[in-house]
Amino acid sequence: MPTESAARSRVVVVGAGHAAITLAGLLRQAGHVGEIVMMGDELDHPYQRPPLSKKFSDGNLEQWLRPPEFYGEQDITLRLGERVLTIDVPRQHIATSSGDEHPYDVLVLATGARSRPLPVPGIELSGVGHLRTLEDARVLRKWVADGRRLVIVGGGYIGLEVAAVVRARGGEATVLEREERVLARVASADLSAIMSDRHTTEGTSIRTGVHVTGFEGAGCVSRTVLAGGARIDCDAVLVGVGAVPNDDLAVEAGLDVAPGGGVLVDGVCRTSVPSILAIGDVTSRPLPGLAATRRLESIPSATEQARQAVAAILATEPPPPETPWFWSDQFDLKLKIAGIVRPGSEIVLRGTPASGRFALFHLHDDVVVAVESANASPEFMAGKRWIGSGSRVDPKRLADPGVALRDAEV
Ligand SMILES: Cc1cc2nc3c(=O)[nH]c(=O)nc-3n(C[C@H](O)[C@H](O)[C@H](O)COP(=O)(O)OP(=O)(O)OC[C@H]3O[C@@H](n4cnc5c(N)ncnc54)[C@H](O)[C@@H]3O)c2cc1C
Repeated sequence: MPTESAARSRVVVVGAGHAAITLAGLLRQAGHVGEIVMMGDELDHPYQRPPLSKKFSDGNLEQWLRPPEFYGEQDITLRLGERVLTIDVPRQHIATSSGDEHPYDVLVLATGARSRPLPVPGIELSGVGHLRTLEDARVLRKWVADGRRLVIVGGGYIGLEVAAVVRARGGEATVLEREERVLARVASADLSAIMSDRHTTEGTSIRTGVHVTGFEGAGCVSRTVLAGGARIDCDAVLVGVGAVPNDDLAVEAGLDVAPGGGVLVDGVCRTSVPSILAIGDVTSRPLPGLAATRRLESIPSATEQARQAVAAILATEPPPPETPWFWSDQFDLKLKIAGIVRPGSEIVLRGTPASGRFALFHLHDDVVVAVESANASPEFMAGKRWIGSGSRVDPKRLADPGVALRDAEV
């Protein structure tokens, strides 16, 4: 049970994305009765981001995180189109773009991340864009409906998801990746190879080890320029080269940030300033089994941190740590990945990639540290559980789909 003063605290949340909205709902559920004020700088009602790269073509883009009436019913003040400009840490006040000031007992930074910029000539041409917001997705939808030939700079999950949608509609997609393989930062070489094959079979042109140096066109983009001078004709470009945390407010307020960016938080989302918490994509957070903090950009991580922050605000028992995971949909493949993919693991394949149902288990001394799966929920669930419990498996039995998963554990 929260103490009366914790339950009555005035909570101000900066950002109105997944982490922020989850936190506000969970706080009310847990018995918080004090004021909750949320400031989001986007104009759209708070929405889900995952459909933006998966359903932008013909699905429902506007998937609200909560129905509009939720905020009034829960007595949550939601201010949209309002940007928080500064934090006055000693006075516990924030100042916003509309000129208002708001006092807080607890401030929660849930400012997320933004698309990583690509500082090359021609980036300002019309027809060159990013994909982070609902507005970005509306533009992308139009490009694809118009049959534009799309160049995607960056072969990460978002770039590949977009390529899959474009190909499913019969459009032209070219993925340009600087590294030697797609998904280089986030997946094993085995999964990269499987996904690369599948995309190529579906008609996407993938070029790895190429460096984009600029874009050309008369007003609207018509060519992508590569190092060495080669040019690729196109009618639109999606730049998907990662995201950077929106940690500027925190930096200006003097909060500790990780060397690579991201507000440093502990296991219950406390920052280096006691009255300020941070949750979601903006954080660099501790993870079970890892010495350094990490930035995770996923819905499950934002949800877990919202739960942790509720415990910190109400001074109640924190939830146990969860195994990180996320998902990606490409063609008919429902990918689910748990744990942290790192180099040097033994990789055990169960199932057959050609059948579209498989799992890659990552082992360190027979201990499962990560699992990358496609259309294989039982394997994913078992892998996630094993990662959490630090279980050992027999690699030979695990690789044999004739052996039940429970019999692969030793
Ligand atoms: C296209 C796309 C597809 C994705 N697909 C998946 C997926 O399949 N699975 C998965 O697990 N994850 C996916 N993700 C990641 C997931 O959406 C994020 O991890 C999640 O949205 C993080 O939530 P957040 O609240 O931390 O940040 P955000 O959702 O980025 O929300 C932060 C909000 O704060 C606002 N803000 C920033 N600064 C200020 C300020 N100073 N004042 C006021 N407001 C401010 C921002 O504009 C933004 O609206 C995807 C992301 C994208 C972009």
